Amino acid sequence: MKKSSNTNWKFQTKAVHAGEAPDPATGASAPNLVMSSTYVVPANLPFSAEGLNDEMPHIYTRWSNPTVAQLESKLAVLEGGEAALCFASGMAAATGLFTQLLKQGDHLLISDVTYAGVREYANEILPGFGVQVSPVDMSNLTDVKEALRDNTKLVWIETPCNPIMRLTDIAAVAELAHSVGASLAVDSTFASPVATQPLSLGADYVMHSLTKYMGGHGDAMGGVLAGRAKEIALLRQKVGIHSGAVLSPFNAWLILRGLPTLALRMQAHQAGALRVAEFLEQHPKVEKVMYPGLASHPQHTLAKKQMKNFSGMLTFQVKNGPRMAEQFAEKLEVFHYAVSLGHHRSLIYYMDTKDLMGSSFKLTGEALERYRAFAGEGVFRVSVGIEDPEDLCQDLEQALG
Ligand SMILES: *Cc1c(COP(=O)(O)O)cnc(C)c1O
Repeated sequence: MKKSSNTNWKFQTKAVHAGEAPDPATGASAPNLVMSSTYVVPANLPFSAEGLNDEMPHIYTRWSNPTVAQLESKLAVLEGGEAALCFASGMAAATGLFTQLLKQGDHLLISDVTYAGVREYANEILPGFGVQVSPVDMSNLTDVKEALRDNTKLVWIETPCNPIMRLTDIAAVAELAHSVGASLAVDSTFASPVATQPLSLGADYVMHSLTKYMGGHGDAMGGVLAGRAKEIALLRQKVGIHSGAVLSPFNAWLILRGLPTLALRMQAHQAGALRVAEFLEQHPKVEKVMYPGLASHPQHTLAKKQMKNFSGMLTFQVKNGPRMAEQFAEKLEVFHYAVSLGHHRSLIYYMDTKDLMGSSFKLTGEALERYRAFAGEGVFRVSVGIEDPEDLCQDLEQALG
């Protein structure tokens, strides 16, 4: 039976069927978990990844694996890309792309607010390899344009960005990046392909932490890069295989189990987040709520243009955040006070502006003021799960005290 990936299918059908096929050996309808690290192969196959091509059978699981391959095909289809390459985590995917595209003397333009680990890697590791790095507010197209250089090889954006929910106009930045011959990569972890498909807006690469909405259940770490077949094949050959940060087949199998419900989950996340955002917005102890689905979000117009689903991520601010954080950690009964996001379970975590400026972001002057416009002195980052929204509001009500 042929591998299913009918391009005419709607998203929900692709989420269920794309990349999967009944197992030819057993007829098994659900994806197989193949844990084998090596494969019995015909004689005279190459022993170097340099000889790798699409026609070859599976040889060694660090090169390719049948369970991971099914996940990669499904992810490529869901993002509207030609191919995808999975990694052990979102960080491995991000740093894998940096390794592939950035050489000594090249310039990386990166969102000044982006996932802290990615930003720290760009700040602290890449300059040691002779890569020039400029952080810029990607919501300001004039700044982006001015920061581009002749040697800019990669522009890295994240929308909505972690943790402040600022948005970036993907199509506009793609045009600017391409005007100097740079590639555009989008960390789309907060959005998911249900909301936004960056490749269709001109991005060259889309990256996800599969640990979040894609897997959706908080029990498997993973990462992915999707894009054009030629470039993904090169990434596999040069980075995936040699860095060795490949996805475990067991994790791939868990994430394959999560993806068919992605669209259903995102609908529930969005409905819950909107209800919680509205509840918080009218609460006397809450000073500000940032949710792209609220008319009060400063980029609500861009959100409506670029996002088909507003996702389940929001932030809010209260007076004396650190004290409220202690109160939440003690009192919340439905929410887990924990990092991470995109799980069926609701999660909340306090992100202190001063702390983040000292460690990950190091913004000063006008850049810091722009950050504060979204995040004040600190935000509670909320990942609204798929519980009944009324239970979530009640839990917040009792914990806000
Ligand atoms: C979690 C996250 C990452 C890193 O992914 P890991 O799977 O934890 O390595 C990158 N970007 C965003 C936006 C994230 O939320």
